[in-house]
Amino acid sequence: MQADNQLILDHLDQPIFRLIGEVADAMNRPCFVIGGYVRDIFLHRPSKDIDIVTLGSGIELAEALAARLGKRAHLSTFRNFGTAQVKYNRRDEHLEIEFVGARKESYSHDSRKPVVEDGTLQDDQNRRDFTINALALCLNHDRWGELVDPFGGMADLERGIIRTPLDPDVTFSDDPLRMMRAIRFATQLNFQIEPETFAAIERNCSRIEIISKERIIDELGKIMRSDIPSKGFILLDECKLLPLIFPELSALKGVETVEGRGHKDNFYHTLAVLDNVALRSQNEWLRWAALLHDIGKPRTKRYDARLGWTFHNHNYVGEKMIPGIFRRMKLPLNDKMKYVQKLVGLHMRPIVLAEEVVTDSAVRRLLFDAGDDIDDLMILCESDITSKNREKVKRFLDNFELVRTKLREIEEKDSIRNMKLPIRGEEIMETFGLPPSRPVGEILSAIKEAILDGKIPNEHEPARQFMLETAAAMGLQPVAK
Ligand code: ATP
Ligand code: MG
Repeated sequence: MQADNQLILDHLDQPIFRLIGEVADAMNRPCFVIGGYVRDIFLHRPSKDIDIVTLGSGIELAEALAARLGKRAHLSTFRNFGTAQVKYNRRDEHLEIEFVGARKESYSHDSRKPVVEDGTLQDDQNRRDFTINALALCLNHDRWGELVDPFGGMADLERGIIRTPLDPDVTFSDDPLRMMRAIRFATQLNFQIEPETFAAIERNCSRIEIISKERIIDELGKIMRSDIPSKGFILLDECKLLPLIFPELSALKGVETVEGRGHKDNFYHTLAVLDNVALRSQNEWLRWAALLHDIGKPRTKRYDARLGWTFHNHNYVGEKMIPGIFRRMKLPLNDKMKYVQKLVGLHMRPIVLAEEVVTDSAVRRLLFDAGDDIDDLMILCESDITSKNREKVKRFLDNFELVRTKLREIEEKDSIRNMKLPIRGEEIMETFGLPPSRPVGEILSAIKEAILDGKIPNEHEPARQFMLETAAAMGLQPVAK
């Protein structure tokens, strides 16, 4: 790619860049905007984080800039790292500008924390992870807008290539997080990883062990939020990182055949479901539910001469596996996890429904169990139909449409989504003079079943009548008041 000079000049034509350039000129310092921000100019991606590199102290330059900006700026310095940050608000614009002095890094084997010394711009570019992330634009007056691209980063941007600036074995071994970043960028930007770079990831994959779970999940989250998240997981599998960071997902791979009968490969099926969900929803946690919906399959797989391959209760087993996976991967152990568990546990229900005659009472039960997450559950289930058999797909989707129609009808009739029973335990105890005990629970659940079955409406009077009849059948009489 020929650097588009006009694009660069247009982009730099902002008061903040002019001011940084002026301050640097006054200090007689070479100064560049570098890294992701420059890459994103050429990719036409919006970007708010600006990285500035200068020769000498980045902190001094940040201090000088903050002094010029006055009240509009907030300066933080990190002396241990030799970096500083200026936060700056102008009208409705909010910018975060990081300052660092150009540095040279050398690594020891057991840590991703390098020994750092002052260096040249070229040294600083050498320590960057990929050629497309090493581009720099000069902000000094004499060289305003000059692109410094020592590794052919522009050509790689043009061709859509992820490649390390130096020997990839050194780059990845120095900081193995870069392996995750390579795959994340390939997924986010829909780029290819250059073969030598990819081969080096495979050779260095075991080095991932020195990277914290938090950093790994950060990258996985960015993969999950991409347009076609499967791309990242296929790359993770091909370079052998997947079993190291996500063994349960890796275990879905493969097809076993007994007596000439095979089952589908649950890894590729899962990825197809994930992409289907990603097409329909931006909800990251719905995407996690898609990724994990069949995670219980390897543990429940059986071969039966009559039935063939079965995965009985894989949804419940999967639901139970989720807290362990979330804890280990440092995903949040909160209502997001509960939501993923719920969807995984329920993901077979609409499918079973769609295979049968769709009765009102089955739809009511589904609505009661799914509550507010019913629409997400339906998206997951429709996405789960990945069969190649067109007739089968059509039959399922038609039946799902029927389930959806019934869901709408029933919801209008009685609000089951967030149903509260019209009778409470206290009323039962009072009426029959009972302490908290099993019969109370039995009467309550009989009332719930009757409402879900459509035998009685979700209202107090009919429910009270039903309570009296149920209790009578159990040999209980109301006590006189
Ligand atoms: P994004 O902001 O989308 O995550 P980015 O490329 O801007 O992408 P940042 O983490 O913001 O990534 O880092 C800014 C720049 O710092 C990168 O473009 C790259 O030049 C450099 N960088 C970040 N992390 C690393 C790393 N682990 N190894 C080498 N260089 C890195
Ligand atoms: Mg960034």
